[in-house]
Amino acid sequence: MNSRHTVTIDLPIVAACNRRSLLIHRYGSGRPKAYLQAALHADEAPGMLALQHLLVLLDAAPDRVQGEIVIVPFANPIGLSQFLNGYTLGRYDFDVTGNFNRAVPALGERLAPLLAESLGDDPQANADIIRAALRRQVAALPTLREGEALKALLLSHSIDADYVIDIHCDHEALLHLYAPRDQRALAQQLAADMHCMALLLEDDPGGEAYDQANSSPWRVLRQHYGERIPLGCFACTLELRGQGDVNDTLAAQDATGLYRFLQRQGVIAGTPEALPPPQGVCVPLEGVDVLRSPGAGLLVYHQALGAQVSEGEIIAELIDLHRINHRTPIRSRTEGLLFTQARDPLVRPGQSLAKIAGVHPLDYRQPGKLLQD
Ligand SMILES: [Zn+2]
Repeated sequence: MNSRHTVTIDLPIVAACNRRSLLIHRYGSGRPKAYLQAALHADEAPGMLALQHLLVLLDAAPDRVQGEIVIVPFANPIGLSQFLNGYTLGRYDFDVTGNFNRAVPALGERLAPLLAESLGDDPQANADIIRAALRRQVAALPTLREGEALKALLLSHSIDADYVIDIHCDHEALLHLYAPRDQRALAQQLAADMHCMALLLEDDPGGEAYDQANSSPWRVLRQHYGERIPLGCFACTLELRGQGDVNDTLAAQDATGLYRFLQRQGVIAGTPEALPPPQGVCVPLEGVDVLRSPGAGLLVYHQALGAQVSEGEIIAELIDLHRINHRTPIRSRTEGLLFTQARDPLVRPGQSLAKIAGVHPLDYRQPGKLLQD
């Protein structure tokens, strides 16, 4: 009889008399293993509600989990406590560890020389060896600061998973997905199951995001030891639309999509419905134009989310409030789908205003530097 096991794990105390903790739900104990977490940037609530719906689906028939599923319904209790002027601010640590979804330790290069003697020719046996070694490496990560301890604790539950789905959202956005180019078929399945509007394929995004920390060790080890190293983890960042897109209709649809995908991978028993036809675009991450504000002022959009725009088209205008109707046009540098926008019309220089999914790689988008702020 399979059932859900829930544990609460404390983070280190950083302020006297204040203790924060992480809740972790687990179903089953076999393989394949899937790990899902929501709101690593704490002020991104759509994934929290989607996982509530997924937990209800799983609780209704926990025996159907034939692998293992780990669910972290809120991945950032530190960020959830960062409340200022009426807003929860969860993207950056108020302490010194920075963006909660950057500088997540990637362990591949550290691991590679340690495994030279133990790896053989059997990819499956190698996967077991690598997972055990990854668990040991994560157990040795620094945990002195609370932000470091949080990253290490989350990784300790995901680093040996076959599937890692890190659920975020943007300011205003269509549902989109960041996934590895060399696991395109799996990414396209997840995109179809989630009715994703923009699948962004990457192979060297940079930034050391959470998904990369889980999947990149396998690629690094393959570079060192060749094809006998399987790509043992599919990890991705799923962006569940915009921060305000929190309602039960969308969350139920998203949970059903996640459930179907897990069934398709054999984590949950049963035959999933046929794969929905893909709805959105599939583009290289280097083809995503990230428009930034050239100055400070008031932003007005000329194009709505979901618009198909052409190169050179005016997406928004920046109004200089020190002058009278002085407007600076902000133009797309590619042809494609406008899939994110800013929420706040008051913008600062350099602030991201919009993302446009284009098919052609852009000169200014350099591999290794594709994720900023
Ligand atoms: Zn995020």
